[in-house]
Amino acid sequence: MKLSNHGEFGLIERIRKLSFQKTLSARVGIGDDAAAWKISASHIALATTDLLVEDVHFDLSYTDYYSLGWKSAAVNLSDIAAMGGTPRFCLTALAIPAGIPEERILDFYRGFGALLRAEKTSLIGGDTCSSRDRFFISVTALGEARRSQIVTRAGARPGDRIFVTGPLGDSAAGMEILKKGRRGHGAKGGGRNAGRLVEKHLRPVPRVEWGRKIARSGCASAMIDISDGLSSDLSHICRQSGVGADIVSSLVPMSGSLAEAAFRLSKPALQYALDGGEDYELLFTVSASRVSRLRALKLPVTEIGAITRGKRIHLVNGEGKKSELHPAGYDHFRGLTRKR
Ligand code: ADP
Ligand code: MG
Repeated sequence: MKLSNHGEFGLIERIRKLSFQKTLSARVGIGDDAAAWKISASHIALATTDLLVEDVHFDLSYTDYYSLGWKSAAVNLSDIAAMGGTPRFCLTALAIPAGIPEERILDFYRGFGALLRAEKTSLIGGDTCSSRDRFFISVTALGEARRSQIVTRAGARPGDRIFVTGPLGDSAAGMEILKKGRRGHGAKGGGRNAGRLVEKHLRPVPRVEWGRKIARSGCASAMIDISDGLSSDLSHICRQSGVGADIVSSLVPMSGSLAEAAFRLSKPALQYALDGGEDYELLFTVSASRVSRLRALKLPVTEIGAITRGKRIHLVNGEGKKSELHPAGYDHFRGLTRKR
């Protein structure tokens, strides 16, 4: 059987069935943003790991090492944020090709350390080895949360409102601008505010503080970070909660910079917002009775739809017409799973 037959998430589901987690006291195992287990009467530990591979996740022709270090930390801290936790420690394992000068690796750690410092998180270990021709980065983040306050992907219920913490699609447009620049079209292809989009792609800010506030308030029934794209990550919440969702296209938050860049890139801005990944905003659901509790937190969140019975996700347009929204993010064994 080829890996592309079941795709990345089919493979993970098969690995999960072979895992030994039922014999462990893990409260959350394979399938959520981070694994969680009880460490004391009041607290649980969180662990997550991500692998970044040169020419799969990043392109050194337009990525500087400082940003690469920052982003390697951000993608992991974002998974701790998605559980409502506080990151405490990181471990990094690098496989480095001979051609990379030591100073560039130190730049990587300057960027990595800048985000860790901002989040009061420490690097406590790792591993270093050589690689034949590509740079491989593996980061593990460890965190903690109060026991009653983690939020998984599995708690969304029909009627819950769906929220995101920020504009979507900026990162994907930023990547396209960078790719065009590499091909000699000039990095300004995305308009006056292209720099903002590029920065969002290269140095995303994980929503750690907001994730913690949302979790502590007890208002969220489910939460995930947007790493693969809204359509994909919402489908993870829906699958694990056994529900569907309606997303109102006019409510999906998009920045003015994205609108300008999308026009220049001749693609609908909404396509970046729905399917473009790596925004690292939080996507979460709140029961109608707890929306006021969320509003009291005064976070810059946007309501974009509601959880429904059934299993499908629909996009509702300006005239109230529904069309099915299929997950269209990136699958490592299938590439872009569906083009709009
Ligand atoms: P995220 O986008 O939040 O990083 P992923 O889509 O990478 O999450 O992974 C989904 C879930 O599957 C996570 O719980 C992760 O720990 C688990 N997972 C992914 N790959 C493997 C693997 N090779 N072995 C065990 N668990 C895995
Ligand atoms: Mg995640």
